[in-house]
Amino acid sequence: MNELNTSSRRLSPVHQVRFTAETLRRWMALYTESIRESEQMLTDLDAAIGDADHGANMRRGMDAVSEKFDAMALADMSGLLRIISTTLMSSVGGAAGPLYGAFFLQCSHATTHKTELGLSDLTAALEAGVRGVVQLGKAAVGDKTMVDTLTAAMGSLRSSCHHHDALPDALKASRKAARLAAEATIPMVARKGRASYLGERSAGTQDPGATSSALLIETLSQSVLLTSFKPRSTTDPRLHTTSILL
Ligand code: ADP
Ligand code: MG
Repeated sequence: MNELNTSSRRLSPVHQVRFTAETLRRWMALYTESIRESEQMLTDLDAAIGDADHGANMRRGMDAVSEKFDAMALADMSGLLRIISTTLMSSVGGAAGPLYGAFFLQCSHATTHKTELGLSDLTAALEAGVRGVVQLGKAAVGDKTMVDTLTAAMGSLRSSCHHHDALPDALKASRKAARLAAEATIPMVARKGRASYLGERSAGTQDPGATSSALLIETLSQSVLLTSFKPRSTTDPRLHTTSILL
C-alpha cells in the first residue's frame, strides 16, 4: 500500500509533469530517430506479409515532419499536431499515411487552445486519435493492425487515470502494453489491409503497422522522461527541482 495519500502524491514533482508543445516536439524527434533506426525492420515485416514499403513510408513521413518542425518555431500544441497530420497524410502514402494522419488530426482537435495536458487530458486526446483511426480503417481489435497496439495502449492509460497515476508512470505502463500487443499480432491472421490478402499465410509475422505504433507509444513515453519542471510553490522544498530524470 502506498503510504502517500492521493493529495500529497499529486504535489510530488512526478505528479506535476505535464505534456506540452515542447514534449510534443521531443516526441516527434525521438520517433523520427526510432523510425530511421527501425526502417529496415519495418520493411522486412512488410515484405513478409505486405509490399515491403512500410519502413520507407514511415521514414519519408517522419523526415518530412522533422523538416516542417524545424521551420515552425511558434506553433502551439494543436497546431503542431495538425501539421504532423497533414504532413503524414501527404508524404507517407499507403494505408498508414491516412491512418496516422487521422490519428494526429483528431489529437489536434482534442487539444485546441490547450497549452499543457495532464494524464486525463492526454489520454482523452490520444483516445480521440485512435477513434479517428478506427473510423477511417474500420479495423477491430484482433484484425492484426495498428489498432491492436493503439487500443491496448489506451486501455492501459485509461486504467492509470482511474488509479491517479503520475503521467510518466502511466506512459511507461502503456509502452509495455503497446509492445506486448504488437507482439501478440504475430500468430494472428490479418483481416484488414494488404496482409489480409494472404489469409492464413499472414500468421507468423508481427504486423508492421502494429510495430510502428508500438514505437510511437514507446517514444511518447521517452519524451516525458526528461521533463523541465517549473515549481509552482517556492515554499515546498520538494518542488525545488528544475529538471528531473524519472
Ligand atoms: P500499405 O499496406 O498500403 O502498403 P503500409 O505498408 O505503409 O501501407 O502500412 C501497412 C499497415 O497499415 C499494416 O501493417 C496495418 O497495421 C495498417 N493497416 C492497414 N489497413 C488498416 C486498416 N484498415 N485499419 C488499421 N490499420 C490498417
Ligand atoms: Mg506496405
